Formats: sequence, C-alpha cells, structure tokens
Amino acid sequence: MALAVYNSKRNFKETSEPEGLEGEKTQFRYVVQRHAASHLHFDFRLELGGVLKSWAVPKGPSLNPKDKRLAVMVEDHPVSYINFEGRIPEGNYGAGEITIWDSGVFTPIDAKHHTLSEQQALDGVKKGEIRFMLTGDKLNGEFVLAHFKSDNQKGNSWLLIKHQDTFAVEE
Ligand code: MN
Repeated sequence: MALAVYNSKRNFKETSEPEGLEGEKTQFRYVVQRHAASHLHFDFRLELGGVLKSWAVPKGPSLNPKDKRLAVMVEDHPVSYINFEGRIPEGNYGAGEITIWDSGVFTPIDAKHHTLSEQQALDGVKKGEIRFMLTGDKLNGEFVLAHFKSDNQKGNSWLLIKHQDTFAVEE
C-alpha cells in the first residue's frame, strides 16, 4: 500500500503523528509545514490519489520566479497529516516541532492553463513534472514542480518554481 514506507519509519506509540490510512475523495488541498528537525525545512504536500504527495523544501517556497527551490521528494503521507502540528519526540524519525506555515487548495493545470484530471496530475508526478495553481493564505498563483537528475540525492531532487503572474514578486 502507498503508505507502507511512511508507516515503517514511525513508532505510533511514541509519535503523535497520524497512522497512515489512505484517504477518500480528493479535495485538492495543499499544506506547507515548517519542520524544525535536525535541519529546518518546509514540507510541501499536495493531496492526490488518496495520499499527500510530499517534498521537503530546505529553503521553503518562494513567490519570486528567480528562486528555484530544491524540493526533495519524500514518502507519501496520509491525508490526515494535512492538519498535523506538534512535536515529534527525540529519538523518533523527524524529531522536532512541526507547525502549519501555509495551507489552501490547488488546481492541477497544463502549460495552456487547462485544468487536469486527478489521474493526469498523478501521471505528471510519475513522469516528473506537475504544474498547479495555488490558492492559499501565503502562496498564490502558478507553480511548477519538476524532477531533475542528480547523483547525490538518490534521484529524488525536484525544483519548486514560481511562474510569472500577478502573484509573483521580484525581491
Ligand atoms: Mn519534514
């Protein structure tokens, strides 16, 4: 099952994180969680296919199209993780404080801004590129996540890039 890796990394007797169960009908929500683990990073998660497709973004998302932010794909997380905030105890996977930095909804789109189906969006993730519009508290407008090849990140390296639109900033 899609959440086997997620569950295998965690001891649910110790962490207050939710146990991994696959979700029901997709609501196309997203969340960005600030995770003060051994290295501070931001976890960017898109609700697709009954799970949260997840990337760890060391510097966090940017509204400046010139900032190409490294986004390391990590294991699928359960949809219920979208509301998770709390402290993962020392000695556990990802130990440290998690807070919600931003949340909202997204629309998967193609290069011509046509809305994609959930399956097309999942196929995009599998092929290594997904484009979407965010409507959130902090983030808004068009973004793309694109996979790129590198030797030192086990092939999990993507870039999160803001596209030029009215929500883009220059600084
Ligand atoms: Mn994390």
